Formats: sequence, C-alpha cells, structure tokens
Amino acid sequence: NRKAFRHLQEQRKQLPIARGRESLIRSIASNDVTIILGETGSGKTTQLPQYLLEGGSYHGQIAVTQPRRVAATSLAARVSAEQGQALGTLVGYSVRFDERVGLGTRIKYLTDGMLVREMMNDPLLTCYDVVIVDEAHERTLRTDIVLASLKRILALRNGNGVDSSAKGKAKANPLKVVIMSATLDAEKFSKFFESAPVLYVKGRQHPVSIYYTSSSQSDYLDAALRTFFQIHVDRPPGDVLIFLPGQDDIENLESSLRMYANQLPQNVPDVIICSLYASLPNGQQAKVFLPTPPDSRKCILATNIAETSITIPGVRYVIDSGKQKEKRHLARIAGSGFDTLLTTDITKSSATQRAGRAGREGHGYCFRLYTEEAFNSMIASVEPEVLRSSLTSVYLQLKVIGQDLDTMPFMDRPDQESVGSALRTLWLLDAIDDSRHLTDFGRSLAVFPLEPQYAATLLASVKHNCTAEVMSVVALLSSSSPLFPDTSSQRDKANEARTKFRHPSGDHWTMLNVFRAYDEVCASEGKSGRKDWCKHNFVNQRALREAWSIRAQLRGICERMDIDWSLSCGNEESPLLRSLLRGLLQHVALLQPDGTYKQVMGPSVVKIHPSSFLTDKRSPAIIYNELVYTTNIYARGVSAVYKSFIAEFPKLTGMRLS
Ligand code: ADP
Ligand code: MG
Repeated sequence: NRKAFRHLQEQRKQLPIARGRESLIRSIASNDVTIILGETGSGKTTQLPQYLLEGGSYHGQIAVTQPRRVAATSLAARVSAEQGQALGTLVGYSVRFDERVGLGTRIKYLTDGMLVREMMNDPLLTCYDVVIVDEAHERTLRTDIVLASLKRILALRNGNGVDSSAKGKAKANPLKVVIMSATLDAEKFSKFFESAPVLYVKGRQHPVSIYYTSSSQSDYLDAALRTFFQIHVDRPPGDVLIFLPGQDDIENLESSLRMYANQLPQNVPDVIICSLYASLPNGQQAKVFLPTPPDSRKCILATNIAETSITIPGVRYVIDSGKQKEKRHLARIAGSGFDTLLTTDITKSSATQRAGRAGREGHGYCFRLYTEEAFNSMIASVEPEVLRSSLTSVYLQLKVIGQDLDTMPFMDRPDQESVGSALRTLWLLDAIDDSRHLTDFGRSLAVFPLEPQYAATLLASVKHNCTAEVMSVVALLSSSSPLFPDTSSQRDKANEARTKFRHPSGDHWTMLNVFRAYDEVCASEGKSGRKDWCKHNFVNQRALREAWSIRAQLRGICERMDIDWSLSCGNEESPLLRSLLRGLLQHVALLQPDGTYKQVMGPSVVKIHPSSFLTDKRSPAIIYNELVYTTNIYARGVSAVYKSFIAEFPKLTGMRLS
C-alpha cells in the first residue's frame, strides 16, 4: 500500500499543472477571484484543492463544485486516495441524496446544486475559505446561481460591499473564489468578476485525426457499433471512448456490443465494456479507471460527462455520436412546470473536446458519426441553461435566502417568460402569496431536495393520512431511471408480467404496487433473489434501489420536521391521488368529446401514452407526470382523478373560467 501511495505521488508530480503550482497559490492569495483556464486532464480539479490545503494558508474548508454527481463522488474518491486518507475524512463529497463528510473534512467536492442548497442555511458560505467553481464553461443553471451569489458574498465578506454592518467584520473571514473552465470563454468570467486575473494551464495534447461519415447516419447506435468493431479488428491497441446522449442509449449499445463481442474469432483481443453517466451507482465508476489488461481493449460508453469532467487514461480512439441530452423547459408549449430531456445536436465546442480526449497519450483518432457539413453547421458553444430550463426550484431556493431572481446579478439574464412561469407555479403551489412573498408553506417545501411540486405532494399527504404511500411514489418519480424501461423487443412478455401490478386508477397506484411488492421481496430475499424478481417482472431494479435510498433520506427529513412518515391509507385510493393533485395542478387535463384531453392550465391537447396502466381511457379528468413529444403530445404517468377533487383548488378552477 505504501508503494501504491508513492506511485500516486509520482503521478501527481507528472501532471502538467504541477509546474504552475506556486504561481497558482500566489495568485489566489493575492486576488479575491482567480480564473483558471486549462486543458482537460491537466490536473486542475484533483490538484488545485490539494495545493491550497498543503500550502497551509487556509484553515476552513475548500469547496469544489461539479455539475454532475458522479464527477463529484469519483473525484473525491481519487483525491482522498492521493491524500492517503479514507473517503469522507479529510476529503469528502456531498451530492443530492448522498453525502460523505466528517468533522475533519477540509476538501469537499459537491454538486453546484448542493452548494446552492447549503446557502439556504449559511447564506454567506462562512464555513468555506475557498470556493472553486469547476466546469464553469458548462453554464448549468446552478453554476450561474452560484456565480451570481458569490459576487454578492464577496462584497459582504471581503469588505468592499455596500452593507456597512458587514464591513466591520470584513477580512476576518475573507473568501477566495476560483473559477475553472476548460474552454476559451475565460474573458466573460473575468469581466463578470471585475477583471479578475486569468491563468492558463497548458495540457499535453497530441494531434488527433478526424474522420467524418460521407452521408448522415439515421441510427447512431448502429453506426457506433459498426465503427467500434472496425477499430477493434483493424487498429492497433488503445482504448475506445464512445460518446452517446444518455443512459438508455448506453444500455442498448452495451447489450449489442456484448452480444457481438462473444462471437469474435479467437485471435481478436477481448473487449472490456464499461459505462459512465451521471447517475451511475456509487462504486461502479471506479471500473473505468482500472488499467486495461494486455490482449484486451476497453470500450467506454459515456455521456458528455467524459468531455471535460472525467479524464479516462488509455483512450486513443473516440467515436462521437454528435448527440447529447439537454434540459429544456417546454413551459411555453405545455404550461408544464418540469424540464424535459431532449436529444439534441452537440455544439462545435463539445465536438472539439470529445475529439481531444483521443490525443492525451499519443496520436489519436476521432470518428465522427456525422458529416463534415453537419459539423460546420453546429452552433459554436452551449447556450446557458438559465435561458432554457425551469426556474421554479431555484426561484424557491433564492426566496429562502432572501434573494429574488430579478435582483440576482446573472451573467445572462433569464427571459421574463420563464421567470413568469416559475412565479406562476410557485403561486399555484401556495409557496408564494399574491404579493410574491415566501409563505411558511413555501419555506417547508424548500427543505426537501425534491422538485417543489413533489414536495407539495409530500406535505399534502399529511392531511390525507398517506405519507407512507406518497413517499414511495415521490421517491420513484424523483429517481433518475424509469421504473418500467422500454422493452420493445419483448413487449408482450413485459406487459403480461407487469399486469399483476396494474391498478385501475392508473400509473401512480401501479408504481406503488410495484414498490410494495419489491419491499416484500427485500424483506425475504437476498441480493440475487431481488435481482431475479425485477428481471422476471420487467421492472428496473436501478430505479427501485435509487428510490429506496431517496425514500430513506426523505424519512430522515420528515423526522426532523416532526412529520409522521408512517401514516398509511392502506388500499384506499383517493388520498394518494388527492395528494398528487396538490403538487401537479399544472398537470391536470380534462376529457373532450373527441376522446382527447385538454390541459386546464395550458393550451395543449394531449393523448394518454400507450404505456399507461389506466383502465378507463375516457376518464373525465386525469393528472400526469410529464409530456412526451412525438408526432402527438402524450401524457405519461397518468392517473384518473375525480372532478370534485379538482374543485377543491379555487386557483385552478379560477384559471379555467378566465
Ligand atoms: P482536469 O481537471 O484538469 O481536467 P483532473 O484533475 O480531473 O484534470 O485529472 C488529472 C488526472 O487524474 C487525469 O490524468 C485523470 O485521468 C486522473 N484521474 C482522475 N480521477 C481518477 C481516478 N478515479 N482514477 C485514476 N485516475 C484518475
Ligand atoms: Mg476538471
């Protein structure tokens, strides 16, 4: 183990950033804000916090934000090992629904969303001496909120603010801010922070040969599969990194790759397949870093997380689908409170980053599964998420820290329409009153790490005596995987297996039936029994496991709030539906004479998704989880509700009349 530790120290010294160590420490010491621009893999994220810790000038904690949870957890594990300490002691992490920190934690990797959450309890982030905002170029909504908030906190803590009461205490606990980015937009960050200095960290980049397809590919999974085996059979050793939009694509390609890899002739090297995406269960991400044994080739299936956040050694070939999943708020079309994930074309900047991943250790090769014309017509760089995603949840969080979207010094201001939509959702939920003031109910909603709509559902369950049931359903709805995955190849078998869970009222009770059955299986069966049960019933065990841990967290929060989470409605149908309705007021639709449904709060006409378990497809009123846009607009996750339940919400009926 000593040997492994020494080896890690050797590796640390070899990283390109090591040469800049002293000048980085100096710049951060003499400036409130420092901007660091560095090529991916140069060592920014893992090394800089350690330099600051080892430098000895900072005695509080150092925060490092990441847009994605899997990056936060895996980087914390790496840096912990580099420090020779157990994870969760000196170095820890904090992400939604999971945390490993101790009293002695000095370096904390956390998602940008968690830092926003921490501001609700500690508005000046006083427990931190240094806040490092990493991957700032991604411009996620939470990163933008963090940047805007830091500007205000700097003014208050470092004594150049207008608040004179804070001035006296200034300098006693000054804050250092570091912004790190992998792309060349540093000027914008520098300008935002009053001409903060920009430092450049050079990486090691070898040339990368780029290949395009001659015609556009309609099926990128099939194209990726063929390209991989061409590389595997024809080309010299070196691992392959395939960029795909999302987890479902990764799982599909993984199973086809495995099938074909089993049929390879004897003289062809083995294929080791691993995957990397935002919600990968803890521990599994370590697999991608294991060295590839001789006589085999590693094939890594990743989302854009591997573009700049996580660098995997050994990659010489990149296959780029040219696609990504992007959060979009479709409020204008749908009147919906939630974001939708859409598969979209990547930007030029992403395409360049993806190709670059092939050239870290030698001459690399990038196979783009799109034409050169398609590349030329890509937009240059990403549009900040604040301009395209739902603002409901952050608006509520800002209200709790006494801020308002309108007064935040955003780098890019969100448009009035989406601000208006967030306000309307919060008002409908009774989180804010008619004069836009935060209500007590709103304050309680913000305590839960859930979409405010689901938090409202959860709190409503207390009145309806069904907190146990609601908690399970809300946990499943908050899981990042679907409970019923698409099983197109075995649709009939899947439908038959799932029929036993069907509840006539629709999908929410059906989900609950699955969870209840799984709970029973967990009580009597071990690991493999549970897995078999899920397989047999065509339900996604990952969704259930994730929901299980979310539910455990929610119970803890309820206990702290003195809410009895064991309240159960047994098999009585209405309490769960009425609680759901409380949160999903914007997702109510009424039957029209032609059999379609018309939204109460929006203009759209929707159909019930064919996957729905709802028995009566002509129920007078429905609630749904989300809309799916294909040739039609489908409501997915549907339950029937009585019109009399809807009448209990004057805000909703009032809207309908006007
Ligand atoms: P940057 O932030 O500049 O992109 P990082 O600090 O993330 O660079 O990475 C520095 C090096 O550490 C890379 O070579 C990367 O492969 C390696 N590394 C990061 N995490 C791990 C891990 N869990 N296991 C092995 N190597 C890792
Ligand atoms: Mg990094």
